[in-house]
Amino acid sequence: MNVAASDLPADTNGMRKFDQVAPIVVSDEEIAAAVQDADLPALLAALATLTGDDRLLADDLQPPPPKMGASIKPQGGMSAEAQDKARRLAVEALISYRDKGSPEPDPRPPLLERAMRFLARGTGPEYLPLLKHELALPRDLGAPDWRKTDIAPARDFKVAVIGAGLSGVAAAYRLAQAGVAYKVFEKNADVGGVWWENVYPGCRLDTPNFAYSYSFAQKQDWPEQFSRQIEIQKYVSRVADETSVRAHIAFETEVLSLSYDEASARWSVETRDVAGLVRTETFNAIITATGQLNRPAYPDINGLQTFKGDLFHSARWPAGFDVRGKRVAVIGTGASAYQIVPSIVGSVSELQVFQRNPPWMLPTPNYHDEIKPGMAWLLHHVPYYGRWFRFWQFWIAAEGRLPLVEVEPDWDHPISVGRANEGLRLECIEHLKTQLVDRPDLLEKLTPSYPPGAKRMLRDNGVWAAALKQPHARLITDKIEKIEERGIVTEDGQLHEVDVIVLATGFQASDYLTPIKVTGCDGKDLHEWWAGDCRAYLGITMPGFPNLFMTGGPTTGVVVNGSAIFSAECAVEYALSAIHELLRGSYASMDVRQAPFDEFNRRVDAGNLTKAWGVAKVSSWYRNRFGRASQTWPFSLLEYWRITERANLADYDLVKV
Ligand code: NAP
Repeated sequence: MNVAASDLPADTNGMRKFDQVAPIVVSDEEIAAAVQDADLPALLAALATLTGDDRLLADDLQPPPPKMGASIKPQGGMSAEAQDKARRLAVEALISYRDKGSPEPDPRPPLLERAMRFLARGTGPEYLPLLKHELALPRDLGAPDWRKTDIAPARDFKVAVIGAGLSGVAAAYRLAQAGVAYKVFEKNADVGGVWWENVYPGCRLDTPNFAYSYSFAQKQDWPEQFSRQIEIQKYVSRVADETSVRAHIAFETEVLSLSYDEASARWSVETRDVAGLVRTETFNAIITATGQLNRPAYPDINGLQTFKGDLFHSARWPAGFDVRGKRVAVIGTGASAYQIVPSIVGSVSELQVFQRNPPWMLPTPNYHDEIKPGMAWLLHHVPYYGRWFRFWQFWIAAEGRLPLVEVEPDWDHPISVGRANEGLRLECIEHLKTQLVDRPDLLEKLTPSYPPGAKRMLRDNGVWAAALKQPHARLITDKIEKIEERGIVTEDGQLHEVDVIVLATGFQASDYLTPIKVTGCDGKDLHEWWAGDCRAYLGITMPGFPNLFMTGGPTTGVVVNGSAIFSAECAVEYALSAIHELLRGSYASMDVRQAPFDEFNRRVDAGNLTKAWGVAKVSSWYRNRFGRASQTWPFSLLEYWRITERANLADYDLVKV
């Protein structure tokens, strides 16, 4: 299961096979028709770097800086005139590229930085390295720039990766690139993590799809703007295959415990496989990639077990379970319920949705849109157009929303926490009102009384309100008193009889690494030490637990300005840089010192108190049971990227081999 040198990916241009294109052989008219469907800002950047024609990056074509607000304007807010000119120039460039025989792109694309600045208007130069990393041009910048064979060829060094979801597959790939031996343990029967587990009707992304992909494996044929579960699952699976990572995964093998032995500086990993066989193997380092939103939170409702119908958690939707003609109750109105309810309302006989707090809905008219045919054609024929489109999606969503959730100390309002937050609130209310003019009763129930951003905002294209308006659907806001054999009883004494109860009640998001028992130096028990209030330095390392690196750890959740893949890639690259130091410096172990750990946590806690989620009183998975925002990253992406770019040895106590 260990990586042999021959497995090392030779490709430093990311997984180029993910965005190979076909030569253009169609007529001028067909090209012009495709360009009608194009996302223009990204197309201009792609064509400029393909052809070297700087007219495509002219000032009058540049999209304005993204406006802060709930929604993003089509074509980045380019004027109609600019769009016409952009289309004309793009068609010209494509015809000329076709007539030259669709040559391979220059490995050192011309105008690269200029095209980046063209799109990321208004940003300072400090962002360029991060943006270049996300673009992965001219090469995969997250790839380790070292090989174990060059720095420690004789050293026996093995890493365990726990979990083969998105983060685990990324960690494994980076280890493979560095030629470090590794083994992945995955409790499920396949890769994908949450995307393998969540098969409820309607499951799909709520982050724009191109941005929700690895920087090193950028796929250009996503079918939708926010693709469905099966597409993401297929993508992770393909990455695991193309990178050869799959061969190094022990499936259906659950990690029970991790324990560190100081004398040998090795971790023992105790596992149990599907046959019940318990084994122990030792490793020099551990990268945990166990995910965060995957351990169901079952509600503490009296009588839950007494229900005689079908009852299950949204993330445990039984394979093939059919709700057709049934009376269904959905408890919860978070992201999962938001996808389930509109998907099943057309087939159930009755639908009762039990809401405690209404979520804020982020207007997203294109939420269920397919990629238009012309756009899909361009993505298949213009080299790196997919990468530029991803870059553009990443940029317009990055950081822009952070000021919208900022707490302003001089702002005095019963609901919002600052001026920009109030602007966002009003925009979202307006969006709600337009959908519910005919249903003041629903409008009242669906209007949140806490600041937007205090909990996860949900993508809305109108399907939620439309579902709840159906004559056989009801939104129930009375408190649930108990569950009994026939259904749900609310505190007004009414029994809501149903055949099926779906618990869309979320996850135990703050209980990192549970239920794995983790024992560090001197028998230190991680969960006892955390006592439910998890902390880590940079969200990655903990004092007393040497050579243990977390991905998706405490206070790293990027909730309004990016995707989980971004912070996972940061943590993975940090772990790889730490492993590089262990190998290069002949260190047996590195253990984060208390002072940087404390300082980081002090700063990030203070940062979270400047955001809506840190101060609002509403319940949310962003905060743990002590009310501390132990899940969320309150600062810019740039800051997290910078502090995780490489491990600083001054932060660690080091022990030589
Ligand atoms: P969630 O956002 O935590 O929502 C749980 C819901 O259940 C809330 O409405 C909550 O009410 C309610 N609830 C919990 N306990 C309850 C009880 N005892 N009685 C009544 N209601 C109860 O969970 P989720 O919807 O599964 O989503 C979790 C996160 O997973 C999302 O925020 C998102 O980050 C991720 N996710 C992503 C996608 C996607 O990308 N497409 C899809 C699904 C999930 P309160 O609001 O009052 O607490």
